[in-house]
Amino acid sequence: MKRAFRVDLKKLILALATCGVLLTSFNTLFASYQVHKNAFIKDTLHANRVYATKLAQVTELFLQSVNSQLNVSAYHISQRFDDLNAVNQELERLLSQTNSFDSLVVVNPQGQIIAVKPDLDILGMSISPAQLRQVKHQQPIVLDPFRSPADNLMVSPTYPIRTSDGKYLGFVAGGIYLQGETILSRLLGRHHYVDGSYLYVVDGQSRILYHANASRIGEQVFGNAVINEVLKGRVGASEIVNSTGIQMIAGFAPVPMTGWGVVSQRPMASILNELGATHKAVIYSSIPFTVLILALILVVGVQIAKPLTLLAKQLATFNRQQSDATRIFAWYFEAANLKHTLIQSNRSVRRVIKALDTDRKTDKLTSLHNRLSLEYWLENAIRNEVGLSVLAIDIDHFKRINDIHGHSTGDGVLKELAALMVCNARSDDFICRAGGEEFLMFLPKIALNEALCIAERLRKQVFEHTMPQNIKITVSIGVAYWQGNTTTIEEAIELADQALYRAKHTGRNRSCCIDAV
Ligand code: GH3
Ligand code: MG
Ligand code: MG
Repeated sequence: MKRAFRVDLKKLILALATCGVLLTSFNTLFASYQVHKNAFIKDTLHANRVYATKLAQVTELFLQSVNSQLNVSAYHISQRFDDLNAVNQELERLLSQTNSFDSLVVVNPQGQIIAVKPDLDILGMSISPAQLRQVKHQQPIVLDPFRSPADNLMVSPTYPIRTSDGKYLGFVAGGIYLQGETILSRLLGRHHYVDGSYLYVVDGQSRILYHANASRIGEQVFGNAVINEVLKGRVGASEIVNSTGIQMIAGFAPVPMTGWGVVSQRPMASILNELGATHKAVIYSSIPFTVLILALILVVGVQIAKPLTLLAKQLATFNRQQSDATRIFAWYFEAANLKHTLIQSNRSVRRVIKALDTDRKTDKLTSLHNRLSLEYWLENAIRNEVGLSVLAIDIDHFKRINDIHGHSTGDGVLKELAALMVCNARSDDFICRAGGEEFLMFLPKIALNEALCIAERLRKQVFEHTMPQNIKITVSIGVAYWQGNTTTIEEAIELADQALYRAKHTGRNRSCCIDAV
């Protein structure tokens, strides 16, 4: 029969356990990755919102401080508005004492620049009509970003100049450059952007006032959800895709004084990279323990499979030999059960086989060995080449006993004679019923003369013995000797038969022999 491929128990346990360990590890890693990712994103949203809020506050504080500085200067200028020298001195003082401004101007109510520091080529120039409209309410405001005549993009906080009786004399304005190394970049610039995080500030018209990427300063951004939110005055954080298509975690906060918005954002990829690196470290550090677990499983798997494998081997030789299963270490319940059952079954099977074998080799009537048993015994004797004597025994006129006393009495006589022979024999001797009322007796290591004496002794005992129903019988015995190597044992048996024949023909109730061949 074709044997189907079957995986063995050891490999099965190992494969199952390995799958279990790997799937559990994978599941744990996956769950941990998801949980950490969500936690990272949440933390980053929070951190960016806090950071944007803080920088919005810093910007607000800066603008308040700028406002106070311009307020003080506007007061001093109002005191000596007609003295242009004094006005210039005040601008000079403000410029040098603070480092809030890149330039300072005083503009009259008609929009003409009447004083400027440092000395720039803009004296006498007029501000744009749009800017004139912005200052018409004569309140402190920050002018929208604009390009100066020297082509600097700048924002400009202004403060109105009024006399003590409230007359409007114009305004003082500070210029703050937006590009290059500016006060805003010093204020807002982060120290490191290695993870791709950056910050930007927009004004009320979605125009970028500050950006880590300086080339974007001045650009107007539309359709950005975060900018839309922050310009509505909201503080918050959300996941967005930036203008270059990169997914970002953004936090935002407004600067209430100017209606600007501060946005701080970090790329999602940097979070995932960090997470990936963390989990890689987790995987590496878990490898030794995982290998240890697998090794442990291998050892346990081998130990589980071992008793079953050995018991299966025992089962293969079940009928042939005595079970060796007692020596198998069956350390767990099922294996111990199997071992116990195997040992018990082996014992009973062997008992049955032995009984059947004995039955097969035994003569039913006399319980002596039969011809089959004789064959086995002779094979052994031939192998051992030990010299032996053969006695061929036959009851004299047995037919008469049957005829006179009946067949069953004849059977009783046969049994009694068999018992008599067994009593006379040594443990090494072999007695078998050769057929009917004839018997063969083999006497190992007994010479012919001695065998003849033994035959005579037996014959006499039979002669003197009284059988059931007071029957008296005699036997004739033929004796021969086999030397163990010169001739076949069958020839020796034949000689014993010839000697028996001689005994019959020379009057029965006697022992005869023929010399060894
Ligand atoms: P001899 O002295 O020449 O040996 O004469 P004998 O009558 O013993 O020999 P014969 O061969 O003529 O007869 C043997 C008899 O043994 C015949 C048979 O009925 C009887 N016999 C053989 N086997 C059994 C048996 O199992 N039981 C009984 N009761 N008789 C048996
Ligand atoms: Mg006979
Ligand atoms: Mg006979």
